[in-house]
Amino acid sequence: MSKTPDFKPVRANAPANATDATAHAAGNAEPAGYIDDFRRAGHDTVDWIAQYLSSLGDRQVLAATKPGQLYDALPPSAPQQGESFEAILRDFDQLVMPAVTQWNHPRFFAYFACTGTTPAVLGEMLAAALNTNGLHWKTSPAVAELEQKTLDWLRQWLGLPGGESKNPWFGIVYDTASTSSMHAIVCAREMVDPEARVHGANHGNQGDLVLYTSDQAHSSIEKGAIAVGIGQKNVRKVPSDAQFRMNADALAAMVAEDKAAGKRPFCVVATIGTTSSTSVDPLPQIVDVAEKYGMWVHVDCAYAGAAAVLPEHKHILAAAERAHSLVFNAHKWLLTPIDLSAFYTRRPDILRQAFSLTPEYLKTTDDPRAHNLMDYGVPLGHRFRALKLWFVLRYFGRERIEAMVRQHIEWARRLAALVDADPRFERTAPVPFSVVCFRYKGQPGGTQGAKNEDDQRVDGQNKLIMEKVNASGRVFISGTVLNGRQVIRLAIGNLHTVWEDVQEAWDLVAKAAGEV
Ligand SMILES: *Cc1c(COP(=O)(O)O)cnc(C)c1O
Repeated sequence: MSKTPDFKPVRANAPANATDATAHAAGNAEPAGYIDDFRRAGHDTVDWIAQYLSSLGDRQVLAATKPGQLYDALPPSAPQQGESFEAILRDFDQLVMPAVTQWNHPRFFAYFACTGTTPAVLGEMLAAALNTNGLHWKTSPAVAELEQKTLDWLRQWLGLPGGESKNPWFGIVYDTASTSSMHAIVCAREMVDPEARVHGANHGNQGDLVLYTSDQAHSSIEKGAIAVGIGQKNVRKVPSDAQFRMNADALAAMVAEDKAAGKRPFCVVATIGTTSSTSVDPLPQIVDVAEKYGMWVHVDCAYAGAAAVLPEHKHILAAAERAHSLVFNAHKWLLTPIDLSAFYTRRPDILRQAFSLTPEYLKTTDDPRAHNLMDYGVPLGHRFRALKLWFVLRYFGRERIEAMVRQHIEWARRLAALVDADPRFERTAPVPFSVVCFRYKGQPGGTQGAKNEDDQRVDGQNKLIMEKVNASGRVFISGTVLNGRQVIRLAIGNLHTVWEDVQEAWDLVAKAAGEV
């Protein structure tokens, strides 16, 4: 985008400066000056965004508002008469902004850091302007085909098989990984028990369907099983090893045991980059077990998939080509604003069989290249989400994205070394990607009181350290629980972060540790 693009959004039948008063007959509800208003306020808004993004580091990361404060500051009912953009934007800036937690901030290190980048902002704006809905191919060929192409580009980066293989992977965009994984669970059920679509999940006396995932898996897997009617008791949490990776031998034993008890193991969800510690499940061994029992394998790499784009990290998705489905969130580490979750499967036939309400035999007139997206999931409507990802992939290109991801991983290692060098702290998990988990060890020699009380006291100190650090407004970090103990977790992942930001966060942690 270095040159001025050849892009003039002018209506063919109206000059660029036409006002709506002239373009429209009297009697419609469109406000006078509708397009002129937009042009003016649109430029102002873009200026506001540019100013915001270039000075974001000066803001507090966490909103300092009290519960109910924004709610109470807003009028009790919507206006009878329309208002000006000026009034709306002023209230946005003065009332709404103070209540915003700045996820785009370079010192946002909580959960998984992310970036809503400028090309995606423009893509979102255009998607909203078009308001095109790709429920089936004809309702908007661009939605279906640009999504297929963009996800195919991303598929290549993730190293999943494409058109060159017998089973090319098919991609579709959903809102979140939670939705993607729920669809994977429905596919898994469809593969082993197509009757369930008609009769419900646990029909007849065939034994319960059982899903396996590690005790470190994201809660969305269990939620998906709840939503699909598998039932929480049929989600078995496979124990993980000392490095928080699923124990594949334990998985094999659990599946064999359930099978012997007359149950129906049908799905395994492996996590590449768990939410707490970013551990990597042993996918090749997990696929071996699943293949023996004819189970569907779903890979949740919502966060860490971005690392697989790097040649030196490609191995994290080894054996993924033997899995059945995979989810990766572009809205985590891939520069795309919430929400855009890429769901891939090498069995789109099963996905379609599970969700299509138009029998296949009635579809003979359909061109096989014309995908009707409504047949591949719960939602009927399908917004033009892929447009922003297309902007992102084109604007940054693979080299810049690789450089960013590589840099974040290197900084995480550098931070891990700082933690290791401070005797007051211990690292609580390996650092395969850009997240560092560690804890304050606490004062030695708590000889009085039981060990449990000591643990609780130190857990409290770790929480207090986080509170103090976050209260500075300079950074935002969050914690997790590993092996039953409170730990501090720092996630790097924002485009605008520089090493000094990470260093500042660590300095604040080290200082707070001296005060608890
Ligand atoms: C973030 C995350 C999720 C949930 O993502 P949503 O898009 O918010 O549903 C699921 N699994 C893993 C491993 C994650 O890191």
